[in-house]
Amino acid sequence: MRTTVIAHGFAAPDFIGGDAALDFVNTVTGRDQAATEPARDWVDSYARLLAWARLAHLLPESTLRALATQAKRRPRAAKLALARAKDLRESLFVLVHALVTGRAAPMKTLALLRKYWTRAVNAHELKYVAGRIALRLRHDNADLDLIAAMVAYRIVEQVLRAPPERLRMCQGPNCAWVFVDTSKSGRRCWCDMKVCGNAAKARRFSARAR
Ligand SMILES: [Zn+2]
Repeated sequence: MRTTVIAHGFAAPDFIGGDAALDFVNTVTGRDQAATEPARDWVDSYARLLAWARLAHLLPESTLRALATQAKRRPRAAKLALARAKDLRESLFVLVHALVTGRAAPMKTLALLRKYWTRAVNAHELKYVAGRIALRLRHDNADLDLIAAMVAYRIVEQVLRAPPERLRMCQGPNCAWVFVDTSKSGRRCWCDMKVCGNAAKARRFSARAR
């Protein structure tokens, strides 16, 4: 797949996946158009990855600040961590695409998912707080791979627990965003009706007019 990396200021309309992990997969747009036009990757730096994670509420603010400090101190390590996060992201797209089209997920994809998921599990601690056991991130955590790990954690703990037939890919051309359909009717086809849905309607209309 050919991909162009472009700077993008993330905003609310970029979060339509129903879970932050799917929104992370959607930081690339147009994977379906790879043959004719490159896909667009919106994560142009580790700082951008952090900005995305903040808007996605993936990690507590204190952890994000610790990661930002770490990334500034170790720019090369941050660059490599970003490349690894993108590898995971593409594997997750393969996984979701396989589920959406009713095919088996590749073993190496599941192995990579497991690797990051266990890393996130290890980043947590169990604490007795006011009569109950709380699961939370360890305070000492400034692992540059933590964002990728938490994305994998969310895929395993949230997304894959949803009925597979509720996992969808937008039917709009040059999109291929993925989401969980939580609508009552279970007939959501588009990432966003305003973006891909209306474009499809306009195309149908002009086809009829011709
Ligand atoms: Zn779409």
